[in-house]
Amino acid sequence: MTRVLVVEDDPQLVRALKINLQARKFDVEEASDGGLALRLAATRKPDVILLDLGLPDMDGIEVIKGVRGWSRVPILVLSARHTSEEKIRALDAGADDYVTKPFSMDELLARLRAATRRQEEPAQNDEQAVVTTDDFTIDLVAKKVLRGSRPVRLTPTEWHLLEILIANPGHLITQRRLLLEVWGPTYSEHTNYLRVYMAQLRRKLEADPSHPRYLITEPGMGYRFEP
Ligand code: CA
Repeated sequence: MTRVLVVEDDPQLVRALKINLQARKFDVEEASDGGLALRLAATRKPDVILLDLGLPDMDGIEVIKGVRGWSRVPILVLSARHTSEEKIRALDAGADDYVTKPFSMDELLARLRAATRRQEEPAQNDEQAVVTTDDFTIDLVAKKVLRGSRPVRLTPTEWHLLEILIANPGHLITQRRLLLEVWGPTYSEHTNYLRVYMAQLRRKLEADPSHPRYLITEPGMGYRFEP
């Protein structure tokens, strides 16, 4: 049974979540504030955490940082805040995904399943150097990309971007993180660089670059590699 820790101070929402999650055979633990959430995360070892950012005793971001000090458990943020800045802070602190309130229960459950599925996959390690999709194969050690049998040439910058994205399959990587890691701190606002380089990567890798299947844009937020 998958154990979910629901961290939320709105009792009506907790009740709705509990009914829906238990109906789908999730084992539900509840915490109505951040302090209890941190204690239960440590003692009850949940398989996934649903986390509201607006908690009575602390900012949900602090809960993410606290849990990330010792655990890789998937954290799915429930955000009532509509600014992408808050979501980016949550993702940078180590959240895996976010859902904006109000959300549909179906969407939440789909994201929950995706988050727990990723957790069950064997840890990515250096031996897993070859990533294969229906359209292309990437050998990270040999630094080679094939589309069918045809080699694709990537520039060092394109490689760097692609490596970060495919090392985190299914995860949204923020614009800020990509800019920091690939271009450095002075370029953290240059989101136009990302647009240009992602367009190049799509032209080289995607069957239909204007409707990408693998290199997905989350508008205003970042990019994700969908394997
Ligand atoms: Ca709240």
